[in-house]
Amino acid sequence: MTYEKCVNDTYAVTAASPLALRIVAECPVTKARACDLALPHWTVSTPVFMPVGTQGTLKGITADQLESLGCQICLGNTYHLGMRPGPDLIERANGLHGFMNWKRNLLTDSGGFQMVSLVELSEVTEEGVKFKSPYDGKEILLSPEKSISIQNSLGSDIMMQLDDVVSSTVKGPRVEEAMHRSIRWLDRCIAANKHPDRQNLFAIIQGGLDAQLRKACLNEMTQRDVPGFAIGGLSGGEEKDDFWRMVTLSTDYLPREKPRYLMGVGYAVDLVVCVALGCDMFDCVFPTRTARFGSALVPWGSLQVKQKQYAKDFQPIDPDCQCPTCKRHSRAYLHALFKSDTAAMHHVTIHNISYQLTLMRSVRQSIVDGRFPEFIRTFMKRMFPSPDQYPGWAMEALASVNVALD
Ligand SMILES: [Zn+2]
Repeated sequence: MTYEKCVNDTYAVTAASPLALRIVAECPVTKARACDLALPHWTVSTPVFMPVGTQGTLKGITADQLESLGCQICLGNTYHLGMRPGPDLIERANGLHGFMNWKRNLLTDSGGFQMVSLVELSEVTEEGVKFKSPYDGKEILLSPEKSISIQNSLGSDIMMQLDDVVSSTVKGPRVEEAMHRSIRWLDRCIAANKHPDRQNLFAIIQGGLDAQLRKACLNEMTQRDVPGFAIGGLSGGEEKDDFWRMVTLSTDYLPREKPRYLMGVGYAVDLVVCVALGCDMFDCVFPTRTARFGSALVPWGSLQVKQKQYAKDFQPIDPDCQCPTCKRHSRAYLHALFKSDTAAMHHVTIHNISYQLTLMRSVRQSIVDGRFPEFIRTFMKRMFPSPDQYPGWAMEALASVNVALD
């Protein structure tokens, strides 16, 4: 690929990496920015929400549908793909892009998070994460080297380092140990990457909810010449007050010329606030998971398609939504379909992904147009019936970047 379109005075090459970030606009009031992120398969407009693209047909949607919704980057699940069908088969299919027939960008996780959260019998040692395969009960070691080897086989545009994941509600010495181990594992991941010329490795900032540990981790990791950074270890049930403070502390110390990915964040309010705090990329299973329970995301919150009140309602989920579901189907139809057919989940999933992508496109446009603070105020007014229902943490977070809500 060529980076010519990215070369201007705001763009600086810091390493021979297959990634270039051009800052298109910075909000003069908040820490928000709009960027063009050039990756091997596509240029991504940020801020961006990245849906999960590899969940299979029942839960998910096809690569074609994702593309037509305007998705420029989606997530591939290293743990599931690494187990079945396995990295060798996927490598033979020309990587995950070829296997899925997806022509745009892919981000793969390290596989570690799934192990810690899904597999009961996992043990973390300096070597890596040990666990029992849920398929055949065999003991498997996921080391930093193994994680990168699988992700190299998958051929993703962005790979995540293996990190030592500790729940954000855990306190004490275990948090510090995990932070230091994550730094050591980052170095092993950097050394293990066989394709630094075409696959970008992102570091994951850890340190729990402790500002000193976060700062120490930021200080160490930003000394490594990695193409991008993720803010990890949050969105795990901690207080929102702690959450936003750790996010804003992280973006204060992360380099301006590299992308910032906030992991596991997907509620609309959180997305808008965290863009204001300076984050560029987001992912979360929430929009697709909640769709399967009949919860459709709308600018005024959510709409529960299964509720009786929609049985005779012939409006689309959101009359202003341009997605294929809203263009074709009524609330009444979806309500009826939910009783008998999994296709209903599919229609709501399409709508929810479209909602997330459209929200982020509007956020970006408002940053480019220099009216992001105004956008936030309008968005919050629409989302909550009255200002006294605005979440306190969101008001405080926004006030910290000079946006007062009235
Ligand atoms: Zn829709």
